[in-house]
Amino acid sequence: MNQVSELRPFVVPMRLRFRRVTTRAGVLLRGPAGWGEFSPFPDYGPAYASRWLAAAQDAATRPFPEPVRDRVPVNTTVPAVDPDRAHALVAASGCTTAKVKVAETGQDLAADVARVAAVRDALGPHGHVRVDANGGWDVASAALALTRLARAAGGLQYAEQPCATLEELRDLRRRVDVPLAADESVRTADDPLRIAGLDAADVLVVKVQPLGGVHRALEVIDAAGLPAVVSSALETSVGLAAGVALAAALPELPYACGLGTGTLLAADVTDRPLLPEDGHLPVRRVAPEPAMLDQAAPDPEQMLQLLERLQAASEHLPPVGNGA
Ligand SMILES: [Mg+2]
Repeated sequence: MNQVSELRPFVVPMRLRFRRVTTRAGVLLRGPAGWGEFSPFPDYGPAYASRWLAAAQDAATRPFPEPVRDRVPVNTTVPAVDPDRAHALVAASGCTTAKVKVAETGQDLAADVARVAAVRDALGPHGHVRVDANGGWDVASAALALTRLARAAGGLQYAEQPCATLEELRDLRRRVDVPLAADESVRTADDPLRIAGLDAADVLVVKVQPLGGVHRALEVIDAAGLPAVVSSALETSVGLAAGVALAAALPELPYACGLGTGTLLAADVTDRPLLPEDGHLPVRRVAPEPAMLDQAAPDPEQMLQLLERLQAASEHLPPVGNGA
């Protein structure tokens, strides 16, 4: 933490409840290279949160890697809504890739099929439809569902975390033609190599903060040898910029990324937020606006809690000089 010159706790409201929270809170760190974001979800302990802190330090103290593209395609996300609503959301998004939530508790496969068909209709034949089951199926249910969904969609780009475990993903992969992506299975920097070693997925969904920063994530993706889809952890635009920097630096970027989540926040720390335009995000650093940081300042009690979380996480960091 010795190069960090400023710590700014923040809390911003979300438009919708997510992961049982209605706000995103964290600490922004300022260093010689710019700003980094530390925003682990509230239920994470200090050891795991230390990877998130390493990511914030990496962004604040090291320049982002050299980009090989100047904008990054992003997908729109369709929640488990009815077909008409799904069609309207996709049509309004400007994106050519849509990620459709499926396997929602309390809904049946017919509802998923109807939603996916409506999304294909809205995208047209050249768009890409992917589904995300958040680990909601067993292997047999996933095999049946993906076959029917692929037919309804006229082809699926991939299915994200259809089953919960790596062993299930590996078994399912032998039974279906739809490519599989691992998301919840990628929690730490060790997971991508394990997934590749087990042949459990075709695509890795990676997030900068849990992997310990942009530079570490680049190494991890390279070592795993699988195509990566960079996604957000619902960061402010400061944190999203690190995700965009990772996506911009990847030698290959065959899929649209999950970084268009700025639209889920009701406020941000900059008046130039990273929001999708024509289905893309620009590649640039983001610095918070002082006035907006003041607006996003938590109450004194929460401010203290956030700084204590950061302190606790820092005690789990490896010795100085080794960012990850
Ligand atoms: Mg997912």
